[in-house]
Amino acid sequence: PFEVLVVGGGPAGAAAAIYAARKGIRTGLAAERLGGQVLDTMGIENFISVLHTEGPKLGAALEQHVKAYDVDIMKAQRAEALIPATEPGGLIGVQMAGGAVLQARSVILSTGARWRTMNVPGEDEYRNKGVAFCPHCDGPFFKGKRVAVVGGGNSGVEAAIDLAGIVAHVTLIEFDSQLRADAVLQSKLRSLPNVEIVTSAQTTEVLGNGEKVTGLTYKDRVSGDLRSVALEGVFVQIGLVPNTEWLKGALALSPRGEIEIDMKGQTSVPGVFAAGDATTTPYKQIIIAMGEGSKAALSAFDYLIRTPVP
Ligand code: FAD
Repeated sequence: PFEVLVVGGGPAGAAAAIYAARKGIRTGLAAERLGGQVLDTMGIENFISVLHTEGPKLGAALEQHVKAYDVDIMKAQRAEALIPATEPGGLIGVQMAGGAVLQARSVILSTGARWRTMNVPGEDEYRNKGVAFCPHCDGPFFKGKRVAVVGGGNSGVEAAIDLAGIVAHVTLIEFDSQLRADAVLQSKLRSLPNVEIVTSAQTTEVLGNGEKVTGLTYKDRVSGDLRSVALEGVFVQIGLVPNTEWLKGALALSPRGEIEIDMKGQTSVPGVFAAGDATTTPYKQIIIAMGEGSKAALSAFDYLIRTPVP
């Protein structure tokens, strides 16, 4: 069995594995896709101390760094269930697709999250070519340009307020007849001169010229008319879904499905820690996921040295 088993190999999982291995304890890392969401990213300019990098490059560097340590890497492995220890300090199981059960004295969950998509033509084709999901990450790439934000919940309205300070103009598009964001955010949004709010609008297509986004089409759900807006960026803000479906019932999840953790990354199950986008930690970013992953590994080590083996 492992002393620390990390499930998930994005920034959080890689950091956790490196910190654990550096303690000289038996460390395993099982992940479907080593690198995680970083592999789907193009330009990264907020990974502090690195002015500019690209997703695939950072993903490869993560893998290289983990491989420099004695970590048992299990790629293309999907976890399907968490089996808590039967006695305090006992072995925790992680059931993998295919049937194997990996055992460890402590487990770090870092299965990340995925952005909910609109599933309209052009969205996939122009990903990273105008279609973006993270205003903190990609906002500055659209400086002085026109963009749309799709989604009028808290994250969409926060994104629109944030972007309005950087870009030339923001069109906020909401499916419902009214915005769902907190009133204070809505009034802040309405006070901005370069924001237009369109409600009862269903996005039907992201338009492009083969190379990049040139606009967006939506259906006015009241009149049924199709309308187009010319713009250079579309920020999709209709939800970030944590990859925690497989953990339901095994430990405490928030109403949004995020793994509930305390300040040390401890979950509701002793010996099980969690880090990164899959957790209740606010602000989903690479540098935050790495910090949280490191913290979870140090917490797991602390747990191991304090918990007698039964
Ligand atoms: P992830 O990166 O989501 O990694 C999850 C890992 O878990 C993967 O290895 C996955 O294969 C694995 N996994 C999932 N489910 C299972 C399972 N059941 N069993 C086994 N393994 C599983 N952040 C920035 O800071 N700067 C940026 O510029 C930036 N740009 C972005 C652009 C895009 C298009 C996207 C999608 C995200 C961007 N982000 C950016 C956000 C950043 O990528 C995430 O915050 C970060 O990757 C989260 O790391 P994580 O390790 O928690 O999760």
